[in-house]
Amino acid sequence: MTELRSLQMLPKAHLHAHLEGSMRPSTLTELAEHYEMIVPETSGYGDFPAFSAMYKTAATVIKTADDLSRVVSEVVEDAALDGAVWIEPSFQPRMHTATFGSVEAVVEIVVDAAAAASNAFGIGVGLMIAGDRTEPPANATENARLAVKFKDQNVVSFGLASDEAVGPAEWFKESFDVAREGGLLSAPHAGELAGPGSVVAALDVLGADRLQHGVRAIEDPELVKRLADSTVCLDVCPTSNIMLRVADSFAEHPLRELLDAGVFCSVNADDSLLFGPGLLDEYELCRSEFGFNDELLARIARSSIEGSGAPSDKVLAWSASVDEWLASALV
Ligand SMILES: [Zn+2]
Repeated sequence: MTELRSLQMLPKAHLHAHLEGSMRPSTLTELAEHYEMIVPETSGYGDFPAFSAMYKTAATVIKTADDLSRVVSEVVEDAALDGAVWIEPSFQPRMHTATFGSVEAVVEIVVDAAAAASNAFGIGVGLMIAGDRTEPPANATENARLAVKFKDQNVVSFGLASDEAVGPAEWFKESFDVAREGGLLSAPHAGELAGPGSVVAALDVLGADRLQHGVRAIEDPELVKRLADSTVCLDVCPTSNIMLRVADSFAEHPLRELLDAGVFCSVNADDSLLFGPGLLDEYELCRSEFGFNDELLARIARSSIEGSGAPSDKVLAWSASVDEWLASALV
């Protein structure tokens, strides 16, 4: 039997994880039963709109501040168990304003729970507040202002989620200007449901530091070269891409090609509640399905750490610990 290094022990950052979509299945069931709701479905979505509707239904089991805090805490605990040194969950506060009264109230609960979970589980937690492409751009701008306001409470990045085909990047320029001028990383979704043009727009219009997904950049060789010449990190989610038919199979997935071209890529779970695998599972799949060796897995982990919103001293220390992992003897 081939001896392998433990991927749990590989220091890594989880950069593409939606808060409610990373809820434990057991918590979804428990909360739904507690509120005498039908347990929301988490499989059987065919296309992205159906997936998105299923996501929003799952989020409705969160009805109190304790529920929301619990989800935050468990998401951080699961990242720690998977060997993450940093997690940057994203959330859209508007998803919960009917429950908590205001976007600000939602953010306050999440930042407090994140700080407590960071202490409890001993890993770094940064938060990404995101806009929604299917909502009016003014909502995203309000979210961006809120994100900047909470920068001192570990909000580190600003994202943009939902259907790329509905809301082009140009509509959200103002929100990203606000976020970037406020010192946040720009990390919109792009190059998932739309092609290379959406990646170019995310770079040129939204000033992306990272791209959530970005894999469809592979369709344009010039764009791949541009990414390889930059420090932009693609926060890739292989299982999500297969489940939502962005790629037909692991064999067809462009991750290897992007890495070979020299593009920085992290590996992530996206929505483990709806797709199945968690962060560590995705690293295991990179080894078993893509056949990545430990040098490549360490490179992915290093990119995740360097692309994160973590403080620079932590980034240096964790990157060094990735090197130590790679230098460690096989056990
Ligand atoms: Zn995503």
